[in-house]
Amino acid sequence: MSKLTRLTVLGSTGSIGKSTLDVVSRHPDKYRIIALTAQQQDELLFEQCQRFQPRYAVLLDEAACERLSKRIAAAGLDVEVLCGVAALERVATLPEVDAVMAAIVGAAGMQSTLAAAQAGKKILLANKETLVLAGHLFMEAVHRSGSILLPIDSEHNAIFQALPRGYAGDMKQSGVSKILLTASGGPFRNTPISELQHVTPEQACAHPNWSMGRKISVDSASMMNKGLEVIEAHWLFNAGADDIQVVVHPQSVIHSMVQYVDGSVLAQLGNPDMRTPIAFALAYPERIEAGVAPLDLFQVARLDFTAPDFVRFPCLALAYQALRAGGTAPALLNAANEEAVAAFLERRISFLDIPRLIETVLGKIASAEVEKLQDLLDADASARGAAREWIAG
Ligand code: NAD
Ligand code: MG
Repeated sequence: MSKLTRLTVLGSTGSIGKSTLDVVSRHPDKYRIIALTAQQQDELLFEQCQRFQPRYAVLLDEAACERLSKRIAAAGLDVEVLCGVAALERVATLPEVDAVMAAIVGAAGMQSTLAAAQAGKKILLANKETLVLAGHLFMEAVHRSGSILLPIDSEHNAIFQALPRGYAGDMKQSGVSKILLTASGGPFRNTPISELQHVTPEQACAHPNWSMGRKISVDSASMMNKGLEVIEAHWLFNAGADDIQVVVHPQSVIHSMVQYVDGSVLAQLGNPDMRTPIAFALAYPERIEAGVAPLDLFQVARLDFTAPDFVRFPCLALAYQALRAGGTAPALLNAANEEAVAAFLERRISFLDIPRLIETVLGKIASAEVEKLQDLLDADASARGAAREWIAG
């Protein structure tokens, strides 16, 4: 008999947040929502409150908070509305919460995710930026508190499933020779390089296989998403940069693979639907129904694989470079990328300016050693400052 799992969903109005609530709604006997959070989407958050009756609802935007409070009161719902960034950490660490879905986008999700790890919560990790920015501190907090950490990113979830049960972070001892991280190649895999200068945010956000938030969609188009995922895999599975091979696989049916020393390669396959990794992590080590259509291999018919093109996708090379440099370099990379993506979405810079801007910031600010969280926050702030200067100039 499985007991009721009490959940906080950080970023419940986003793509991952909505998919999480979809899976939860299929198993009312297994999951109870304690807290939902969003930046400013009070209308959707209100609907989610009506449907899931959480104890807390958090918004960052003050005006949105006021609107939500009024609607909650008018509807007679027993939901406490909290406002501001400190409330994110509060609902991530409540004693009555068993598990936290970390699905805020960007570095903005780091502090609450880290707090959940320090509090020993079971963590369903979608927010890859936490690992890119503060991988060492986060993993240390997970190990110290005894948190169960389950990756939601489809590739890392696949790797987790293909590794031996109870994998303790030693690739050699487990007979693992390589992690094969698959990538769709995004919407511009075959676009002539000369046309990339003029691609629009709409084109960049039209991913061929996955429907996702705008930031990660642009990251997929530039393949920075895969770069961030290489760094994510490094921390999750204690794998070196040379142990992680990116494999372009346009069908997104194999979600990643693990190669063993005996020649075996284990893969996890499925339709590209984030409800699969979400359901896996929610129910782990059991399995639950996720609402995902069964994979039809006859319809898939073929699976293709090619090597990544580092000339077309310089962001991927920059991420490997930052991982190898270590220290604050991944934090600088992540912050410069967030600023670049935001400016691209606002049509202030071109698509090809994204890697140019990141390279400039990494060239300007030297990587330093990390002793404490503040070192990372300082690196993040200085990279954003340099990036904004470049964008304004
Ligand atoms: P999204 O933009 O759809 O949703 C983001 C959520 O975070 C929303 O609820 C939003 O209100 C909230 N949010 C945004 N800015 C915030 C801030 N400053 N403070 C607090 N909350 C804030 O994003 P998404 O696509 O759901 O992605 C969420 C995370 O999951 C990202 O880290 C992404 O890389 C990762 N991820 C997403 C997918 C996917 O399929 N969407 C797949 C793998 C990993
Ligand atoms: Mg992914």
